[in-house]
Amino acid sequence: MVNSITNDASRGPGGESLKMNNGGTSVFLSVMLLAGSDIAKSGWEKSLMYWLAEKDIGAGIVGFDIADIPWRSSTFHEHKQFVLETIDRACQRYRWNVLDYDPPFVHQYLTAFLALVEEFSEAYVDESVEWQFIEEPHEFQKCAVHNVYLHRLNPDPLKCCLLCNDAPTNAWAVG
Ligand SMILES: [Zn+2]
Repeated sequence: MVNSITNDASRGPGGESLKMNNGGTSVFLSVMLLAGSDIAKSGWEKSLMYWLAEKDIGAGIVGFDIADIPWRSSTFHEHKQFVLETIDRACQRYRWNVLDYDPPFVHQYLTAFLALVEEFSEAYVDESVEWQFIEEPHEFQKCAVHNVYLHRLNPDPLKCCLLCNDAPTNAWAVG
């Protein structure tokens, strides 16, 4: 299955998108969570990390459009800067040492994602867009192993870390 990240506002429906298979998507999300979880401070920034963590459901339905993120004109530049900084840190392999694999294609994914975000200008902001969570976050918790934000898709908190769930030999399985 292919997951697509689009920017219909700037590229039009059917415009060039970032396409990744499920494995590639997991790697992309992992490096974004590693990069952003350490610097997310505001509720919006933590919500973005949580929203990305929820893409752990996989199965080709985790694509999104940049406009699905609830941008606001009043905070647009600050929030966009957070996303760009997260991508930049990910490009610099921030905390990739915790991955037990070497991500092969993720640099090109990050570069394509950077272009999509850069192209999204304040003119495209739709103030009516809200976070579309699968499970509303009650509080923002992090994985004790990976220090990334957890989702709430499983009743067992130990199964709510995208990185733990993706690791072929994760800490919980060998523990
Ligand atoms: Zn974890």
